[in-house]
Amino acid sequence: MIDGVIKYNFDFQKSEALDKSQFSDIEATRKRLYALGLIGVYADGIGYGNISKRVNTDSFIITGTQTGHLKSLKAEHYAFVEAYDDKEFYLKSSGAIKPSSEALTHGTIYNLSDEVGAVIHIHSKVVWDFMLKNNYLKTADVEYGTVAMIDEVNRIFSTIDPLTNAKFVMLGHEEGVMSFGRDLAEAELVLYEILGSILI
Ligand SMILES: [Zn+2]
Repeated sequence: MIDGVIKYNFDFQKSEALDKSQFSDIEATRKRLYALGLIGVYADGIGYGNISKRVNTDSFIITGTQTGHLKSLKAEHYAFVEAYDDKEFYLKSSGAIKPSSEALTHGTIYNLSDEVGAVIHIHSKVVWDFMLKNNYLKTADVEYGTVAMIDEVNRIFSTIDPLTNAKFVMLGHEEGVMSFGRDLAEAELVLYEILGSILI
């Protein structure tokens, strides 16, 4: 369940921080999810949760690695994934920070459909338990940030239109849940709908 380990082939070129206009909408969403504890930090200091939005076919902006503990993020906490190839387990990024260690899973979700415009990864024991118990889509007992996880994401959406069921729970990544949508608002709403089902 630790998010702090970079497992993929990483080509990181440190560059100037991103411009605020590139991430202000991500930051607005992140503030709400942080307030709910869906992004945050465990008692042992390990941060969790990350958000991305698509820029082009194979590029996206994502929160940086080990930023989950921060209540608000600045430009130096956002990374630009310029290119990636999940079949080659490759990812190239720039910005002032390395991308989240779960960035390639985001990339695989963007590959599911050109219409996917934003991806959110949260941690919550309550949401995780609820989704497993209620038979939501789930990846098998495989670790995040692995080829096996990429294969699992592709498997569960191989017969399902991803945007009609834009969420899944990660059995092998304790407390881990992914949602996505055409834009950030849609991906965020998917999470709120799950929370609504829990609260009722
Ligand atoms: Zn995670």
